[in-house]
Amino acid sequence: MSLFKPLETKEESKNISGNAKASEKTRCLIIGSGPAGYTAAIYAARANLSPILYEGLQPGGQLTTTTEVENFPGYPNGITGPDMMQELKEQAERFGTDIRWGIATAVDFSSRPYKVTIDDEKEIIADVVIIATGATAKYLGLESEQKYMGSGVSACATCDGFFYKGKDVAVVGGGDSACEEALYLAGLCSKVYLIVRKDYLRASKIMQERVFNHPKIEVLFERNTKELRGEKVVQEAVLIKKEGTPEETEEVIKIDGFFLAIGHTPNSQIFKDYLETNETGYIKTIPGTSKTKLPGIFACGDVQDPVYRQAVTAAGSGCMAAIDAERYLAEHGL
Ligand code: NDP
Repeated sequence: MSLFKPLETKEESKNISGNAKASEKTRCLIIGSGPAGYTAAIYAARANLSPILYEGLQPGGQLTTTTEVENFPGYPNGITGPDMMQELKEQAERFGTDIRWGIATAVDFSSRPYKVTIDDEKEIIADVVIIATGATAKYLGLESEQKYMGSGVSACATCDGFFYKGKDVAVVGGGDSACEEALYLAGLCSKVYLIVRKDYLRASKIMQERVFNHPKIEVLFERNTKELRGEKVVQEAVLIKKEGTPEETEEVIKIDGFFLAIGHTPNSQIFKDYLETNETGYIKTIPGTSKTKLPGIFACGDVQDPVYRQAVTAAGSGCMAAIDAERYLAEHGL
């Protein structure tokens, strides 16, 4: 006996305000357009699953905010993040993926087939859902950070660095992202402070060396940002040195731009009522697979990976999700 209710291709349901909501049936829905989502789309499309992919808030994902990608196999001379994502998109389209602009705003995974609401107005009914929603940049949570958002505060050096050409800026963080952002900005700006809360960098050795050897970058260890100040735009940052110790002091640096590079939060919020997540919100998958605890729901890329978070591992997990989805559909005669 089939577990699944047969569906018409077009249905109507009600949205929150009670209005009729357009609804569409698909075998395979992919949410997200980073390396994981596009790779899942390439595999699913080549397996004749006719996937629909919704690109989400940031089409192309986080790599569209990065500069040179030097560690993705197959690009001996490197490639820019946006170019790489454009190529992945074209590859997914070539095999028939239906790529659409839109954001998944709600899900109903309480019964199969699963329902995903797009932009609060349209419902996609899917036999399988591949979640590839990635992760989003974190902020410090300072009031002044909010105040100067877009007026000196940014979480994307590649997007906004150009506006600080010839100026002094600061980058917060001690990981690979922070080093990468600092190096990128050093190519544009007069001076780059790297504000690190510990007394060491967490970044890979090669990135650390590049940062330490760059004449325009000054690393400020054991500093926390207390507040940003300025008239209309950021003009200075107040830092606390060695906070909570007897040597604690306050210092002010003059800057025009303040860039955050302190990690990311997985975009798993809308799935939390149905799927298991770890303490920081990453979706749990069955080890060695892309399977979540719900049959037919698969997760890949940064939304389920707190450890590796690389473009190549995201792409690999996208491939796994498409293969898992294809096998699931075949096993259930869908
Ligand atoms: P990470 O989690 O590796 O680093 C975050 C950094 O931000 C840490 O130094 C952390 O400090 C600091 N931080 C976190 N919260 C605060 C806070 N409230 N105040 C001040 N500092 C804070 O994130 P990344 O985005 O750098 O990297 C994520 C993953 O992506 C890593 O695996 C990295 O290797 C990879 N990556 C690789 C790249 C490449 O290979 N080209 C480029 C970019 C990223 P603390 O150390 O004290 O916790």
